[in-house]
Amino acid sequence: MTHTKKAVESAIQKLRDEEVEEDDEEANDDGNKVTKPSLTPKTPVELAIDFILHDFEMAEVEPISTYVDFGEREFLVADERGYDHLLYKMAEGFLFTSEGRILDDRLKLNKVVRELQHSRNGVTVITEDGCVYEANYVILSVSIGVLQSDLLAFNPPLPRWKLEAIEKCDVMVYTKIFLKFPYRFWPCGPEKEFFMYAHEQRGYYTFWQHMDNAYPGSNILVVTLTNGESKRVEAQTNEETLREAMAVLRDMFGPNIPDAIDILVPCWWNNRFQRGSYSNFPIISNGKVFYNIKAPVGRIFFTGEHTSERFNGYVHGGYLAGIDTGKALVEEIRKENERESESQTLLLEPLLALTGSLTKSKPETVSNIHKCDIPTQLYLSGKLGIPEAIL
Ligand SMILES: Cc1cc2nc3c(=O)[nH]c(=O)nc-3n(C[C@H](O)[C@H](O)[C@H](O)COP(=O)(O)OP(=O)(O)OC[C@H]3O[C@@H](n4cnc5c(N)ncnc54)[C@H](O)[C@@H]3O)c2cc1C
Repeated sequence: MTHTKKAVESAIQKLRDEEVEEDDEEANDDGNKVTKPSLTPKTPVELAIDFILHDFEMAEVEPISTYVDFGEREFLVADERGYDHLLYKMAEGFLFTSEGRILDDRLKLNKVVRELQHSRNGVTVITEDGCVYEANYVILSVSIGVLQSDLLAFNPPLPRWKLEAIEKCDVMVYTKIFLKFPYRFWPCGPEKEFFMYAHEQRGYYTFWQHMDNAYPGSNILVVTLTNGESKRVEAQTNEETLREAMAVLRDMFGPNIPDAIDILVPCWWNNRFQRGSYSNFPIISNGKVFYNIKAPVGRIFFTGEHTSERFNGYVHGGYLAGIDTGKALVEEIRKENERESESQTLLLEPLLALTGSLTKSKPETVSNIHKCDIPTQLYLSGKLGIPEAIL
């Protein structure tokens, strides 16, 4: 069976190679065959360039919205407080905090959501440690990779249109491997931040960057791998990865460079809370895919960078999508309240007519009840209060 499969695969590959060779030749005016430049990168240098242009730069279609809206300058954020700091700052606006610490017990951290039971009345969230939370609505901000995985169970299951949209979105794996050295052996200075390694295996430790500009004296190099190479490296030990990376560096800088003293290999693909680094919508995808990925299912609202049509793949995409989804939910709650008030009014009208003791005109009385009593009752019965914030 394996031999047959191999033979078929080998035949398909041979056919593809022949097609490529034929494509590379075309007849000139005299009917002689001439070789035209190949569109498929073949040499190590062509492969390295192709990797940088497509995998590394995410094959984004020009013009890139982020550059259009925020300018073309790129920044390496080297603030040691990290993104946490921004989140805590923003949280001060709506959670109880003191001296930068969140004291609000509505915020539940380190809870792993495993199941969402949803109906027309509300959503029940069940976590891995057996806690159960009930809410009128839920905003779900897990990554597209997590939505594609089986970490979360939806009960009832998500509708087909939603599942299809989630499946259509590609997940990019983008891995930055950090290597720390006892001293610097690479060129530094203006215009010397990046270097490229050309290898016959596409994306094999191609793109390198030193950290001297952001962290002077840190003696750290970063190499970026993507997709297939990221997954390959995640499946092996850090020692093997270190060996491969050192062989590449010695190929570039000679045999006498020192061994790295530390290595950090993030595993975005195998991390069950990520299952990839960020979304990468196929160029052919249409607006409907975005729309369906973002669209709520009943009382479950979806957010995250993958729901941002303009900035998907980016931190600011996640941030702006969050604001957008928050507003959409507030609007939905407002409409729900309106609907409930209307139905209460309809119920009350016959009652008021029956009492026969109305002194004011009917519309005026009803509108008073509508304005004061009913909303108060709704608040008291907890209809409008979302009991706990689940992050
Ligand atoms: C190596 C790398 C480099 C990047 N470089 C850039 C860059 O230069 N510029 C840029 O703008 N963006 C960059 N990004 C992308 C950026 O990090 C993402 O776009 C951004 O983090 C998306 O935010 P998000 O809130 O949508 O999703 P996430 O950051 O994935 O947040 C989702 C959260 O949900 C949690 N979660 C998942 N499942 C569960 C569960 N079952 N229960 C409870 N919690 C759960 C996760 O732990 C996570 O905290 C990079 C990403 C990577 C990996």
